[in-house]
Amino acid sequence: MAPSTSVTEHTYRCLSCLDGTRDRDFNVSHVSATCGACESFARFVNETVLDRFRAFEESPPAALDWERLDRSEKFLVCDQVVRSNRSIEDFAVSD
Ligand SMILES: [Zn+2]
Repeated sequence: MAPSTSVTEHTYRCLSCLDGTRDRDFNVSHVSATCGACESFARFVNETVLDRFRAFEESPPAALDWERLDRSEKFLVCDQVVRSNRSIEDFAVSD
């Protein structure tokens, strides 16, 4: 591996069209940028967070009432699980 590629690239995906991507050399939950695919100024979400989000949509975690969360809350939970290594049980909701 060449030394010049030592910076880790993180991929962010456009939430408007889910087609456009941006690569950044830092790891945050999301970035805002103009999308090359749909040309809107959109929120780009960290692809690892988006993968987790999709997995939970397919198979909602038993620990919390996933369907009751709105989309931004879902992304927040996914972000914490993926990037902070928190357990989904930490988000258990009780009435
Ligand atoms: Zn887009």
